Amino acid sequence: MNKNHKKIETKGIVVGAGLGGLMLALLGWQKHIPLTVLERSRYDENSGGRTLWLYPNALRILDQAGLLSDVIRHGFPVREIRYYDIDLKRSFTVRLSDFPEHSTYPVTGILRSDLHRILRQACPEDSIICDWQLRRVSARKGKVLAESADGRIREGAWLIGADGIHSAVRQSLDPNWNACFVGQICWQGTTQIELDPSWHGVTSEIMGRGRRFVFTEIRPGTVTWLALIRQETPAQGQGKWPLERLQHIYRLSGGPVQDILEHASEDSLHLISLRELSEARPWYHQNIALMGDAAHALTPETGQGAAQAFQDAWLLSELLSQSDSPPEELFRQYYTLRAPQIRFLQRQSRFIRGVSGAENRLLTKLRDTLLPLLPEHLMLRKMKQVYGSEQNITGGHHV
Ligand SMILES: Cc1cc2nc3c(=O)[nH]c(=O)nc-3n(C[C@H](O)[C@H](O)[C@H](O)COP(=O)(O)OP(=O)(O)OC[C@H]3O[C@@H](n4cnc5c(N)ncnc54)[C@H](O)[C@@H]3O)c2cc1C
Repeated sequence: MNKNHKKIETKGIVVGAGLGGLMLALLGWQKHIPLTVLERSRYDENSGGRTLWLYPNALRILDQAGLLSDVIRHGFPVREIRYYDIDLKRSFTVRLSDFPEHSTYPVTGILRSDLHRILRQACPEDSIICDWQLRRVSARKGKVLAESADGRIREGAWLIGADGIHSAVRQSLDPNWNACFVGQICWQGTTQIELDPSWHGVTSEIMGRGRRFVFTEIRPGTVTWLALIRQETPAQGQGKWPLERLQHIYRLSGGPVQDILEHASEDSLHLISLRELSEARPWYHQNIALMGDAAHALTPETGQGAAQAFQDAWLLSELLSQSDSPPEELFRQYYTLRAPQIRFLQRQSRFIRGVSGAENRLLTKLRDTLLPLLPEHLMLRKMKQVYGSEQNITGGHHV
């Protein structure tokens, strides 16, 4: 510890003002839980123009936080998800407007930066301290000490790590507890292009061999997209590929994909190596807990990372506001109640990744033949299990 820095005490500490940490700060404030959020970046650095899909389970928590109408106003409705094979033959369609909850919680796409801003503006200004990068955390005599990279110290009764997939809180608990590369890289981009009206309000996914392309027109003339590619090793750093290489990989028999890639600008490209954190071990130790990607990073197949971080935040805020039990006991309950749903989603993600990212010629042929035969009601039932707002946050227990 730097001797020039005094210890500052707060009741609870949350590390990370990303989507999960902000939701916890907001719900915690609404439920009168004294806490402070420590965030490494400055507010305006935490943006990023990529798109998130919010399904009924995420919208329900946003509703409870009083933000549903803001989110719907700044987002765009997605009424259908269409799946295609590599020749752009329609495999099947999921009509999201058939979702029983569509009228209350219509599936909404939103720029991540817009969602972050809406959450941030709803939080009390003095609950978040920026420019505070956690280096390590330790638990001692019923207290938690958080130390910043520049030697500042905060002391609290408990601490929750909401500091994302490369969490420094998790690293403090065990330096070998890391998210694993799942054998896919993902390019994200935005293209200014007018698409045919038949693509409006639709998310389209084209499944090839070992590669997928997902795109949505988020407003007239602006398309956001993901290009997923199987690869044995993670991408080194944020290295830039020339756009032509992507265009080459996604040479399809016509259709909008080529146009989208041809009109994309290099500056909009963002590359990540997909990782998941799926070790079956508790997300807490004494009075320190993990939530969101820090605890259970999911790959994007199910579009559930932010939704699950919101559900963690909701449950933690309920437990911390309703009980006088010691933090370790509350964190144990939190983990026991949340883990089954996360395990279920991890299995779903792996299954979808295996099917949609299949590389083997025979398997892809089988997939492209069988998928169009899938009854739509079966698909809707599965989607309700994953995305429905009634879906268990707590494994059916009342808190
Ligand atoms: C390609 C892609 C597509 C996705 N699509 C969807 C989707 O459609 N729907 C969906 O629900 N989810 C989606 N997700 C997942 C979603 O983005 C994440 O799960 C979600 O952002 C996790 O929130 P979080 O708060 O746990 O972490 P983050 O949002 O990553 O926030 C972590 C915060 O901690 C801060 N931080 C990090 N280290 C420190 C430190 N040492 N000290 C202090 N602060 C620190 C960071 O600056 C950041 O503000 C997608 C993810 C990917 C990669």
